[in-house]
Amino acid sequence: MIAEVIVDVPAQAVDRTFDYAVPENMRQTAAPGCRVHVPFGPRPVQGFITKLKESSDIPPSRLRDVQKLIDLTPVLTEELMKTADRLCQETLSLKASVLKAMLPQAMRAVYRKKVIAASAAGERHFSSLLPIEDWDTWQQHAPAAERSQLLAAVKKGDLTVEPQVSTKEASKKQFVYEAAAGVSPALIDEMASKAPKQADVLRKLLKADKALPVSMLGSDGARGAAEALVKKQLVLKRQEIVERDPFAGRDVQPDEALLLFDDQKQALDKIGASVQEAFHRVFMIRGVTGSGKTEVYLQAIERVLQKGKEAVVLVPEISLTPQMVHRFRARFGSLVAVMHSALSKGEKYDEWRKIREGRVKVVVGARSAVFAPFKNIGIIIIDEEHESSYKQEEAPRYHARQAAIIRAEHFSCPVVLGSATPSLESYARAEKGVYELLTMENRVNEQVMPFVHVVDMRAQLKEGNRSMFSRPLLDAIKSRMEKGEQTVLMLNRRGYSSFIMCRDCGYVPQCRHCDISLTYHRSSHSLQCHYCGYLETLPSSCPECESDQIRFFGTGTQKVEEELYQVLPGVKVIRMDVDTTTRKGSHERLLESFGKGEADILLGTQMIAKGLDFPNITLAGVLAADSMLHLPDFRSAERTFQLLTQLAGRAGRHEKLGEVFIQTYSPDHYSISDVIKHDFTGFYEKEMYLRRVGGYPPYYFLTMVHVSHTDLNQAVAATEKIGAFLRNSLSQQAKILGPVASPIPRIKDRYRYQCMIKYKREPDLSNVLKSMLRAWQKETAGTDLQLSIDTNPYMMM
Ligand code: ADP
Ligand code: ZN
Ligand code: ZN
Repeated sequence: MIAEVIVDVPAQAVDRTFDYAVPENMRQTAAPGCRVHVPFGPRPVQGFITKLKESSDIPPSRLRDVQKLIDLTPVLTEELMKTADRLCQETLSLKASVLKAMLPQAMRAVYRKKVIAASAAGERHFSSLLPIEDWDTWQQHAPAAERSQLLAAVKKGDLTVEPQVSTKEASKKQFVYEAAAGVSPALIDEMASKAPKQADVLRKLLKADKALPVSMLGSDGARGAAEALVKKQLVLKRQEIVERDPFAGRDVQPDEALLLFDDQKQALDKIGASVQEAFHRVFMIRGVTGSGKTEVYLQAIERVLQKGKEAVVLVPEISLTPQMVHRFRARFGSLVAVMHSALSKGEKYDEWRKIREGRVKVVVGARSAVFAPFKNIGIIIIDEEHESSYKQEEAPRYHARQAAIIRAEHFSCPVVLGSATPSLESYARAEKGVYELLTMENRVNEQVMPFVHVVDMRAQLKEGNRSMFSRPLLDAIKSRMEKGEQTVLMLNRRGYSSFIMCRDCGYVPQCRHCDISLTYHRSSHSLQCHYCGYLETLPSSCPECESDQIRFFGTGTQKVEEELYQVLPGVKVIRMDVDTTTRKGSHERLLESFGKGEADILLGTQMIAKGLDFPNITLAGVLAADSMLHLPDFRSAERTFQLLTQLAGRAGRHEKLGEVFIQTYSPDHYSISDVIKHDFTGFYEKEMYLRRVGGYPPYYFLTMVHVSHTDLNQAVAATEKIGAFLRNSLSQQAKILGPVASPIPRIKDRYRYQCMIKYKREPDLSNVLKSMLRAWQKETAGTDLQLSIDTNPYMMM
């Protein structure tokens, strides 16, 4: 028996299968989709069996043996392996990298295999041997006959192999605080004047009536206050194990399908037909925020389940939308698996296994959930399809939409793309009829869209208002506080980081390894590089001119929070940004607290623009809408429009009317003015015109070649050579731009250059690029040059 094996070696030259002989003792269970160790060069490497066959062109004397069979049952289905083939062609990725990306992290390494019974027969026949704690050790000493019987039972399904995922992080612990017995509201009132922070913490604990982690006790200073209370014995502190299932123990009230409105019904009918008759089609639902898209997804999935099939639902970084997960759990209960990046390795593996074993029928997850190992998929839904997080920015550089369509073609099932602000690429395809367009223009219950005001910050400055809050926004927040309603405030930090600048000479501290300004971190009083992590202490005088006027510039969420406390005495703010949400579950807890009305304002970065659905939010504000507009990226207007529309959708989703204030220095830019009118198609037409004139997607395809080297000259020379090669090899139609320095020309001491290829039709492109990669890898082996290709670039930086 011969196995064709893809080896996990990151080189273009070996991106093909190699033949290996399968030794007698592995033949029983070796199968396509199993991982192996094979000898390759000086040491064994991991690989995937893609095919088994009887003979090889390599003479037996030169054929080497598979050294070890890592999996006793395939970890990848045949369908996923085929999907990998196509994804590799489309993205020019190495096959091994795609196959690995399809597995949960815990399954990318070798693991200890425990064998247990999976059926009554298995139990009966092997009771004296089971469980086998470590298969690999056991089989070395086992009699051949016994070993063979066991493997046969594994193959038949009477026994199952349970990988032992590292238990290191199986249980995480955290400190929690609880009010001591005897703490009364009266006592808290007494404390309030002398120790307001402590009183605040105590009030929260009393109200919660259970132990809370520090992340739920408020923002700055909560830990200190809690510790002080522990010393006074008013609060008890203990350690608690953080639950492995982030949703365990949470009561989910089951709910039922709602009676659909006309738009919803029409969309469901179309999608339902594709489900019912099992034909593949891509649907694009463009529906304003709150038009009831999610309800359509839920009912479409119901039909899929009735047919005995499975559903994959992708949402952007799911940890950010606990409310969404909740809705799927309410409808489908324990049939739902959840996969997102905040889960530990072990948790991810648990969810993956539930899917593989068919114990769940619906997976709700972020990008990589598109590879869920279901065997009979009936629908793939991509919510907020325009989100850039669906594109993986490291190898393999695939887009989830691309993978979804490949899989859906195989299963003859629909793909549903949903968004209030579709990507231009997808919407253009829908307009041309490549995708089927379904439109939902109205909010459920005839709820009107929020009223959007644009505030010209230049005028505010002229009136003498130097604060980061305009008068109209501030007045609106005050009136909400009086009425007991809530506000969300977004500070868009992209391209607007908080840096230090000398007011005398204009000096801005830069990272020593990257061409980027250092970001000021208040909590550690340091300057940090967001690309390489380089850290330095805050200078007290300017290193250039020795002036002491070196100050914090720009605005971070912390700074905004402080100013809010100053201008709105008594205001309660919950801040949500990378600093307050790194801990698992903290995001959800902050939202829960806001939902319960424990704060007037939810202040945050982009992450608050998505998925929030609280009836009491009647005001949404954007502090600096144009911060993203001037980035060197052809999608910056599109992203601005999408983000502002998303945020506007947070206000007034229920009975109460919503209002939105957008502060900007470019009030006339169409990406901002079209948000006022909730006019997606208006924006789309203007933006499409500019894309056509500029020669950008969706009119042209782009492929980007990135080159980097620690030596500037070598980087430039290599990129020039690539540019020349491409000009010679591609047709006259293709435009090759560059070489130019990347917008961030140096990261981690590597100089970065790029060539952009713009083209309409270039059938030979992928072959040309592949042969280029191969030639280069040979030539540059052992040197410091790095080359990568992105066939559908999202990050222009
Ligand atoms: P979207 O996903 O388009 O933003 P949702 O599906 O979240 O919209 O719907 C917005 C709100 O309207 C939700 O609270 C949802 O429960 C409610 N809703 C949706 N469809 C219906 C319906 N047919 N009848 C009553 N309420 C509905
Ligand atoms: Zn200076
Ligand atoms: Zn750096």
